Amino acid sequence: MKFQQLKQEVCQANRSLAEAGLVVLTWGNVSGVDRQAGVMAIKPSGISYDQLQPKDIVVLSLETSKVIDGNFRASSDTPTHLLLYQKLPSVGGIIHTHSTYATCWAQAQRQIPCLGTTHADHFHGPVPLTRQLKPEEIASDYEHNTAKVIIEYLSAEEANPEQVPAVLVPQHGPFVWGNSPVAALENAIALEEIARMALYAVLLNPQAQQLPQALLDKHFNRKHGSNAYYGQED
Ligand SMILES: [Zn+2]
Repeated sequence: MKFQQLKQEVCQANRSLAEAGLVVLTWGNVSGVDRQAGVMAIKPSGISYDQLQPKDIVVLSLETSKVIDGNFRASSDTPTHLLLYQKLPSVGGIIHTHSTYATCWAQAQRQIPCLGTTHADHFHGPVPLTRQLKPEEIASDYEHNTAKVIIEYLSAEEANPEQVPAVLVPQHGPFVWGNSPVAALENAIALEEIARMALYAVLLNPQAQQLPQALLDKHFNRKHGSNAYYGQED
């Protein structure tokens, strides 16, 4: 099988998305990229997660967006994934879901404030909200333009995609990434959990304060970057 490893990784991450409870019906997709081969691989549209096999995964050229391997039509969100890979060279895996708690924040049109160290272990600050798409951006090339507003946000804020591995598109839902499909999956699971914690924290205390900068930096940096010391050495 061509692109065997990439297809296996992407298939497994999609199946895990369902097993982790992040998707209802087929409301979510995982993709992965092989930069050397110049391709991305993504879930086929409308196929249920428990029936998904590596051979079903669709492979497209990063440069031309043409399908180069696979028998099914690619996820309808493919143009979003494609533009994100083109613009964010450090990203190796991307996930889009409508996971309940993260989507609640998106629908409330609020960023997810960083209220605790669980959040800071994964996200270096609030999980931001992009701008809303304009009517003409919705009318044509909607999925491509969804990535465009995400890139626009990251560029305007000079945000490092490693420090901001997720954003919310207002009244839509979360887009999450990582340096591999598995890393993106971990971030998507963490996002849903911290979205749930933040909701209850804000309900319990609407004046709950953002995490102090020193604690935010401490927790993020001990798991990420060159001075990370959490977990076991490779
Ligand atoms: Zn969506």
